[in-house]
Amino acid sequence: MTGLKKIIFFDIDKTLVDEDYNYQDGLYVIEELKKQAVEVILNSSKTRFEQEYYRKIFGLNTPFIVENGSAVYIPAEYFDDINSLKRDEYHVLELGTPYKTIVKHLKAIEKTFGLKYYANSTLEEVMNFLGMNKKLAELAMKREYSETIFRYKNIGFQDVLREKGLTCQMGSRFVAVLGKTNKGKGMETLLNFYRKKFPNIEVYAAGDGENDFPMFELADKSFLLGNKEYPGAIKIPNIKELLNFI
Ligand code: MG
Repeated sequence: MTGLKKIIFFDIDKTLVDEDYNYQDGLYVIEELKKQAVEVILNSSKTRFEQEYYRKIFGLNTPFIVENGSAVYIPAEYFDDINSLKRDEYHVLELGTPYKTIVKHLKAIEKTFGLKYYANSTLEEVMNFLGMNKKLAELAMKREYSETIFRYKNIGFQDVLREKGLTCQMGSRFVAVLGKTNKGKGMETLLNFYRKKFPNIEVYAAGDGENDFPMFELADKSFLLGNKEYPGAIKIPNIKELLNFI
């Protein structure tokens, strides 16, 4: 099996990090995978800034996919021949819709449906909705491509947003509103670079939410945490279990 490169795409919330924001198990798994030269990619609904926080914790310098497949961030010099937008030290491949556009559509219907989301919430409210500390809440509020519906009074807002060309996706806890993309599209975009570099790749994905299923569709082997079901995915009670299969 010479030349085989293993690549794993990880959801963050309730996958690498539990509901109390503990990441010890996630860190252990990533360290073990790195010892085996497995390429670890974060693919989350979280923002670039939140993921930069976790990249430091997990000791990752790999590309990452933000806001449910809305953009792929690739560190400069990581791959040859990338023709893309440059932002800070990254190449950025944008697949989603700008945040401004999404908020404009939400503002127009927020009263009708009683919507509460980042752009119409205070920092204190966000900390409350997410059970996050101030630092993490601030990073979550620096959004580029998606909104999160924390609360709604009336159903039907998803249909209205769909008519505007947006999509709604169920994450671990909340509904995300974004452009016509998903975690699978971000993953496919990034995999094209790996396929050019490595003749033989094996692809894994791990997650707990419906928004992770587009990743499972593309992976050779998928790992599902939590209570959902996905055909062919390996159900694991704890993230550490996946080390038995890679
Ligand atoms: Mg999750």
